[in-house]
Amino acid sequence: MPTHDTAYDTGDLWRDAALRAVAFRDGIGARPQRPDAGYTEMLAALGGPLPDEGCAPRAAIAALAAAAEPGLHAMTGPRFFGWVIGASHPVGVAADWLTSAWGQNCGNHHAAPAGAAAETAAADWLLALLDLPRESSVGFVTGATVANVVCLAAARGATLRRAGWDVEAKGLFGAPPITVLIGDDAHTTVFSALQLLGLGHDRVARIATDGQGRMRADALARALAQSGGPAIVVAQAGQINTGSFDPFEEIVALAKARDAWVHVDGAFGLWARACPEVAAQAAGVADADSWATDGHKWLQTPYDSGYAIVRDAEAHARAMAAAASYLPAAGAGERDPTHYVPELSRRARGFATWAMIRHLGRDGIARMIARHCAIARRMAQRLGREPGVAVLNDVTLNQVIVRFESEPGAEQGDAATMAVIERVQRDGRCFVGGARWRGRWVMRLSVISWPTSEADGDAAVAAILDAWRACRAQDC
Ligand SMILES: *Cc1c(COP(=O)(O)O)cnc(C)c1O
Repeated sequence: MPTHDTAYDTGDLWRDAALRAVAFRDGIGARPQRPDAGYTEMLAALGGPLPDEGCAPRAAIAALAAAAEPGLHAMTGPRFFGWVIGASHPVGVAADWLTSAWGQNCGNHHAAPAGAAAETAAADWLLALLDLPRESSVGFVTGATVANVVCLAAARGATLRRAGWDVEAKGLFGAPPITVLIGDDAHTTVFSALQLLGLGHDRVARIATDGQGRMRADALARALAQSGGPAIVVAQAGQINTGSFDPFEEIVALAKARDAWVHVDGAFGLWARACPEVAAQAAGVADADSWATDGHKWLQTPYDSGYAIVRDAEAHARAMAAAASYLPAAGAGERDPTHYVPELSRRARGFATWAMIRHLGRDGIARMIARHCAIARRMAQRLGREPGVAVLNDVTLNQVIVRFESEPGAEQGDAATMAVIERVQRDGRCFVGGARWRGRWVMRLSVISWPTSEADGDAAVAAILDAWRACRAQDC
């Protein structure tokens, strides 16, 4: 057995890790759709004094797996409906393993030609899939949170440049104020992005939304009319609870009339564009200026993978590149990944995206999204038929929010809804989460995992209804 200070038997080590991965994945549907152990137990298993002595490579990995596995959540399982997250498709994972094994520092195209070219190629595919302006630049980042930061940095730079201020060089002190207009039901990470960029999470005009969480165009029109100077409108494709889409055609028309930048947070919802059955809901979104979306949600790439897409590639590069290097030193048709992301050294994220699109193809992606939306509708119909169960959103995409109330009453309904969620999680046949919507607790179901079938949806509905009936029997 090789040790830490002798030659490594890499094949032995990696085959062992692969077999562990296979065993974990093969067992995922059969195990409870929740972790067996909690954080405190995990800290006890993984914590402890700093090891003075090393151990053999396989022993280190065996120790890691033995300690970690009880605390792993079945996020890649077929009946995982929590949050809004993808399920690390095996093809994406395989590409990601190779990415790590190849060990490319994917900062520029000279150092990492394959990694850089995979991003360029995958970027073209993404723009075609999402039907966004083909001249847009794409930064391969860790997720939609950072994609929102990157896109809003480009927006900040471009809107201030139009007002005669170079924010990349001079910073925000002394700059003309930017008005940020954002829907009242925007995702929390957009506010984090604004906070990071010095635009402030409270220093925004919050625009009223309708019952589905869509920005109201009339309210936006009024707010825009009241504001002057540089402006950024933040719209949303896919509200985290309802799956709804802002009215982009109206929003973009209003913003353009006022010379405002339109950014769209479309972490999962932008993928509706890749599916003819649901694409119409996002009509007009391609006329925006920037878009944040995720690979590790609907495209099912492993973590971490998100895309910052900006129509004005130069504004994008100016916002990200360090002094002067933004002007591509690369010749025409060459692209340095680092010009479109905050980092210099980074993994070659394009490989996993490339492999997932190569594997599923445009048709496979469209079929998967259509299937998820159909399962969501079916689950909503079945749940909504049960007395005391109300589906609160129009299920037009993959999101379902459900309220449990035997008799009308906010408090009783909150308690009952939380009790049902708790019971479903303990039961372990499926995983669902909770959220607050319009001041009330709801169960949130997100159908967005590649292994989820109609039968999994039905099994989850059965588990949820069992939990609800048990709660009712106990008057909870
Ligand atoms: C998930 C999500 C985000 C954040 O994306 P991460 O990949 O977690 O960084 C932002 N906006 C919406 C609408 C989301 O669903």
